[in-house]
Amino acid sequence: MSEEPSITALDDATVQRIAAGEVVERPASVVKELVENSIDADASRVSVAVERGGKDGIRVRDDGVGMSAEELDLAVRDHHTSKIGDIADLEAGVGTLGFRGEALAAVGAVSRLTMRSKPRDGEMGHELTVEGGDIGDSSPAGCPAGTVVEVDDLFYNVPARRKFLKTDATEFDHVNTVVTQYALANPGVAVSLEHDGREVFATDGNGGRSPPSSRTQSGGTGNLRSTVLSVYGREVAESMVDVEWSADDVSAETPIRSVRGLVSHPETTRAGREYLSTFVNDRYVTASTLREAVLDAYGGQLAPDRYPFAVLFVELDPATVDVNVHPRKLEVRFDDESGVKEAVSEAVKEALLAEGLIRTSAPRG
Ligand code: ADP
Ligand code: MG
Repeated sequence: MSEEPSITALDDATVQRIAAGEVVERPASVVKELVENSIDADASRVSVAVERGGKDGIRVRDDGVGMSAEELDLAVRDHHTSKIGDIADLEAGVGTLGFRGEALAAVGAVSRLTMRSKPRDGEMGHELTVEGGDIGDSSPAGCPAGTVVEVDDLFYNVPARRKFLKTDATEFDHVNTVVTQYALANPGVAVSLEHDGREVFATDGNGGRSPPSSRTQSGGTGNLRSTVLSVYGREVAESMVDVEWSADDVSAETPIRSVRGLVSHPETTRAGREYLSTFVNDRYVTASTLREAVLDAYGGQLAPDRYPFAVLFVELDPATVDVNVHPRKLEVRFDDESGVKEAVSEAVKEALLAEGLIRTSAPRG
């Protein structure tokens, strides 16, 4: 007696949708991917507009290099990328934010995606739509140089996911956090955010376009301060103090090369941790080690359950940090967690002490 085997192959559409779920969790994850693409495309201006927290619509417009009709069609296919060619490129180190070639395919699988693009040196623009993974034909379309990506009805074909989304306000908070991080990390790019037709913030991009490693060094923190002013407002910007710490200035051995940025006065705080922004080698990351290091520096000066504002750029040997813990979550791990924590805490403490905002250095140990 033979029975049907209980194991069967999943069909392509199912496989595609499951894979998409790994990349796209909520509107903010779509926004993250699209903004990264715009920055990778050398944009000097990135405008983000969302409707109802991004659940109904997301539009990201840039003035980057753009795509031809053929490139549009390839861009939305899974594992298609212009950013790396093979594993050797990956091992040599990637200078772009993306490289997996999965994002647009994933977004297209779980929404109605429309892209319009014109290469900078191209004569004509094109438009392409993808609906629930079905890729349409591209057609000529009038548009300025650069790219516009519109994502409507996210998860319309994955009801379980759609149901799991939070209120418009909560989803928008996540979108806002993401766009803010990219605005802070790229003071040379004019980044704007709009929600339901209302402007939330806009940076002017006057921070100057400089190579990533010198981005925060070249203009000191002046540019960063003006970006902070745009995204967090005057009260916060004026309460920020400069953090300027370099391993060259200390005798002890440290895994960190430098820590630069801004941290707020101990009384300028919020109830949430989302205003503690940390960047490792110019990439936005979430790392509890870095967060704790900042909080430690304030000693007992913070009110209970209050968190300061911080925008901190940490530079260290890329070989000593693992940024690939999870493609979506932006978490990192350091080879020397305690060394990193101590150095970052020292850098912030020094800055606060210099301004007389904390009294004494907490005992080291
Ligand atoms: P990845 O960013 O990992 O390469 P994506 O799926 O996000 O994968 O994008 C696929 C490709 O589409 C990119 O490698 C790039 O060539 C192109 N692309 C995507 N967005 C843009 C954009 N805003 N401007 C120009 N090219 C883009
Ligand atoms: Mg990408």
